[in-house]
Order: sequence, then structure tokens, then C-alpha cells
Amino acid sequence: MRITRPYLIELITALALILAPFVLPHLGFSPSTINRILIWGLFGLGFDILFGYTGLLSFGQSAFYGTGGMFAAYLLTEAGFDHVMVAIILGAVVAGVVGYFIGLIALRRTGIYFAMITVAIAEVFFFVEFNPLSAFTGGENGLPGVPTPTFNLGFTVLKFNTDWSMYGFLAFWYFVGIVIALRIVRSPVGAILSAIRDNPRRAEALGHNIHGYKLTAFVVAAIYAGFAGGLLGVMQGFMPPDAFMFDTSGQLVMQTAIGGAGTLFGPLLGATVWLYLSDFFQNTLHLGATWKLVLGIVFVLLVCFLRRGIVGAMVDLYALAAGGGNEEPAGASAGSPPFDPAAIEPMPPRRRGDAPASGPILRAQGLSKRYGGIVANSDIDFTVDHGEIRGIIGPNGAGKSTFFKMLTCEVAPTSGQITFEGRDITGMDVSAVCQLGLTKSYQINQLFDRLTVRRNLTIAALGETRGRFRLDLFKNLHGVPGLDEQVERTAALVNLTARLDRPVSELPYGEKRRLEIGLALATSPSLLLLDEPLAGMSPRERVETVALLKSIARGRTMIIIDHDMDSLFELVGKVTVLQEGRVLVEGMPAEIRTNAKVQEAYLGGVHGEMA
Ligand code: ATP
Repeated sequence: MRITRPYLIELITALALILAPFVLPHLGFSPSTINRILIWGLFGLGFDILFGYTGLLSFGQSAFYGTGGMFAAYLLTEAGFDHVMVAIILGAVVAGVVGYFIGLIALRRTGIYFAMITVAIAEVFFFVEFNPLSAFTGGENGLPGVPTPTFNLGFTVLKFNTDWSMYGFLAFWYFVGIVIALRIVRSPVGAILSAIRDNPRRAEALGHNIHGYKLTAFVVAAIYAGFAGGLLGVMQGFMPPDAFMFDTSGQLVMQTAIGGAGTLFGPLLGATVWLYLSDFFQNTLHLGATWKLVLGIVFVLLVCFLRRGIVGAMVDLYALAAGGGNEEPAGASAGSPPFDPAAIEPMPPRRRGDAPASGPILRAQGLSKRYGGIVANSDIDFTVDHGEIRGIIGPNGAGKSTFFKMLTCEVAPTSGQITFEGRDITGMDVSAVCQLGLTKSYQINQLFDRLTVRRNLTIAALGETRGRFRLDLFKNLHGVPGLDEQVERTAALVNLTARLDRPVSELPYGEKRRLEIGLALATSPSLLLLDEPLAGMSPRERVETVALLKSIARGRTMIIIDHDMDSLFELVGKVTVLQEGRVLVEGMPAEIRTNAKVQEAYLGGVHGEMA
């Protein structure tokens, strides 16, 4: 049973924020340094959701920090607007809107190309701030005279015009920021963001609109940046132009790496170390211009030796002190008694729409796929009926996996048509096809390795319970109706209940293989494709997995590719044999075993299972 302590992190954060002004000055922190740390920490909350949780490394956050800050400062200084908080919130909204449009462009690419686009964006914004818009932004002078907030409560007026009163103001907003960020990362959206970071391709194949979720993370990060930018102007009484500088983005990335990405508190701790050392090197050691060099070396050492940053190291230490936290659960070892999947009732496939539950569920007509000069599939006609368990065999390179990829719309056919439950799905998005009830398990595991088994299955089940895209940013993951039950039933079915809270990276291969099937199963498909589910398994694991497949086949249509014909023929009704991208023959297992063409195809190929 999982022990959850609701609001513990929030409580500790509140206590730390209350105690900080009493403790940090004794460690050599000035009030203005502490205030700057809070602003960097708040700025970094959004960035950590984008980078640490979603895996999108952006070097363009200064664009949104500057935009939000300048917009708020302009309203408060040049436009005669006198509601400080409203101006800051408007600045954050403008940064979010700008982030939306920039995200639409930048997120068209991934990896290093995405990062390069964000570098270019930061540079463009810096140029625009200094040149075409200098009449509004003050150019290299920035905008002086930004007022501090005052709140008239009737009986008293709250003013934030001293360093420590400003600390109270910033600490309040940091607390609000962390509460919101924690809700986001604990929401269904947060779970999907971490799936995108670990394996975007699989997250999409499980029915999630990953572009929509990435854009959401990008906008959230822009809003946090814009809000923090607004606070910067208010704290300093001056909106500096260097908020827009590329250095600002770089510093944010480095602070997050030092503190620990994917922890939310990493940017705050990273900023603490960074600002403390920069003050120390400049003001105490009087290193002059060489302070950046020393800081750079410290950065390299910290990142090399604390690979998960300061917060990551603290979490590891805590886990060690708490006894490892990952003891082998009873009955979970490789030598556990064989389980009986037939004793567990599988989730029924979800009925989608009003398609008939008899007759053909899937039909492929004239399906071909060419990769340059290679013809992977050629003119395949293939029909599977509701409730059928079909086997597909063929020598290596016969085109079996390519055929599956076309059926699930992972790759577009060069020609031909695919009809699923009476609907033409040719050229559809893989996530949309999964939502219709057609998905597959992969020949090579496609799991979310850094996450637990429970989280893996949750991500799969969320596709079914929530559809392709939903902005339930503030909903508790465990509040999604039926989700936990579906996860636990799937885990029981694939015999992973004892492993639910283990990171996938720690599982032995056979269990990873079963989880691979579990992910597909948790989407409640009405047609489940299994690409070599027995690949790489020991004889005992094969027997168990065949029993598992028999169990999940109840009431479900399945197509299974495998090279282990004895096991496959035990499971399936009809068999389709592919050779050189074409259908060679179709028939019942007994006919296939004795078919001369099939024997010739196999004896002529690498495999000799037919002999
Ligand atoms: P195996 O049993 O080894 O998994 P298979 O029957 O699944 O093989 P496919 O993986 O579908 O065969 O490959 C069919 C042919 O298409 C092979 O010649 C392969 O090299 C080629 N092929 C598959 N994917 C690509 C690709 N992305 N680019 C170029 N060629 C490809």
C-alpha cells in the first residue's frame, strides 16, 4: 500500500520560507540576494515543468521573462496604470500568449533543433527590445521608476518598500507558484508530460496528443517566466533590459542543472548556490573578472558529480537512509510461483461508437510500403473478423512489423486503404487510432524507463479515460474515475502487482516484456496487435505469457506476430504467412505446418522452425 502524505511538501515549503529570513543572513546571504533567489526559483518552476518534466530544453526563457517584465513595467511607469498586481498578472498573460505562438513554431522540431530554435528566439527578442521597441522598453536603459505594491486593507495599508517586506511579498508568490506547480505535476497532464520526456513515441501511440501537451508545458513555462519578470521589475524598482539577454536563459538552465531538473525545487536551490558563490567570489574573494571562470568550474564539477543535482542527491540520500526503499516485495522474485492469469477477469474491450460487434473489424486493401528502393510490403489484402485471434508469421525481413506499423498508422502506406470497424483510418494519427481502440505492443520494448510500473500503466490507461487531450491541469491523478482500478487490474493480469511501485529500469527483461503487453492492454483496445510478444523470453516465461495471452484474448480480437510457432499455433485460429512483403498463404495452423510453400520459405530463410 502506498503511503501518501497530502500537503507535506507544501507544509515544509511554507515553514522553510518562514524560517529563511532568520537563518540565511547568518550564512552570509543579504536580503536582496534572498529576494533574487526567490525570483529565479519562481522563474525556474515553469522552466522545470518544461525541461525537467517534459524533456524540452529551451534556451529561450529570457524572451518570456523580459516580455512579462517589460509589459508590467511599461504599464506601471509609462502608461500610468497603478495596480501593481494586475500589471504583473497582465504581463504573465501576455508572456503566455507570446509563448503560445512561439511554441507553435518551436515545437515543430524536437531535440537539438528545438533547442536551437529557442536560442534564436531569445536573440530575436533581445534585438527587438533594444531596437524597434526601445521607445517602449527604454532600450539599454530599461524602465526606471517601477512602483512597489501597496494593498489597502481598510484597517491598514500593506507596503512592501523594504527588503524584508519585499521578501514577504515574494515568498508569498513563490509559495503560490510551488503549490500550482505541484498540482500540475501531480495531475493527469503532469503524468503525460513525464511520459513525453521518457518516450514521446510511445506516449503518442497510447492515444495522447503529445503536441498539445508539449505546447501546454511551453505556455505554462512562459507564464511563470512572465510573472517572475514582473516581480523582478517591482523588486528592483527598475526593469532591467538584461532580463531579455541570452545569458539569463543560460543562467536558468545552469541553475536548474545544479539544483536538479525534474524536482521543482532544483531551480531554487541552484539559484541559491549560484548567487551565493557569485557574491562570495566577487565581494569576499575579490576575484574580479575571473569569478565567472571559477563559477564555471564549480558548475562543471557539480553537474559531473551530482548527476541528478542537489535535490536529486538529497532524495537519493533519503532513500538510502530509509533503507533503500526498494526492497524486494514478497513473491516478486524471479522464482515466484507461476501465476494463473485465467483466474483474473480481463477488462472488457471498450465499445466505441455504434460499429457492429460482428463481421470484419479490420480490413487492409492493396496495402504497400516502399522505403526508397526497398519494398517492405506489397499489395496486401487482409481481413480480420471480430473475436478472431490471428497469427502472422514469416521469415526475417518479410515485412511483418512494417505491416503492423501501417495498421496502427505509425507509418503511412505508400498505397492502399485500411478500414477499422467500418471507418477508413488510412493516414490518421497514431494517437487517434489508439483512441478508436486499435493499438499494439512493440517488438522492442517501448516503456517509460524512469517511471514506475504503476505510472507506466497509468499513462496508458489515461489515454482511454481522458481522450487525446484534456487540460485537467489541477485535477488529482487519483481522482480520475476508474483509473486506479484499471491500472491495478492490468497489473494483476500481467502479474506485476508486486512490482507496481518499482522503476521500470530495475525490472528483469521478462517482466518488462509483460509490461509492454500491459501498456497496450491498459488502453482497452478492441483490436490488439502484438509484435513478437515472446521475443527473448525463457521457456518458462513463454509458457506464462502464452497463458496470459489466452486470458486476455477472451472477448478481444488480436493479431499476433511471433517466430515461436509452437506457442503461436497454440493460441491462434487462422495464420497469415508473409514473405518478401506479400501474403504467401493463409490457413489454419495444421495446414500451414504442412504447406510446401511455407516450408520452402522458411527453409530458404534464416529460420528453421518448420523443419
Ligand atoms: P523481423 O522478423 O526481423 O522483425 P519483419 O518481417 O518484421 O522482420 P520488417 O521489419 O517489416 O520485417 O522489414 C521489412 C523490410 O523493410 C526489411 O527489408 C527492412 O530492412 C525494411 N525496412 C523496414 N523499416 C524500414 C525503414 N524505416 N527504412 C528502410 N527500410 C526499412
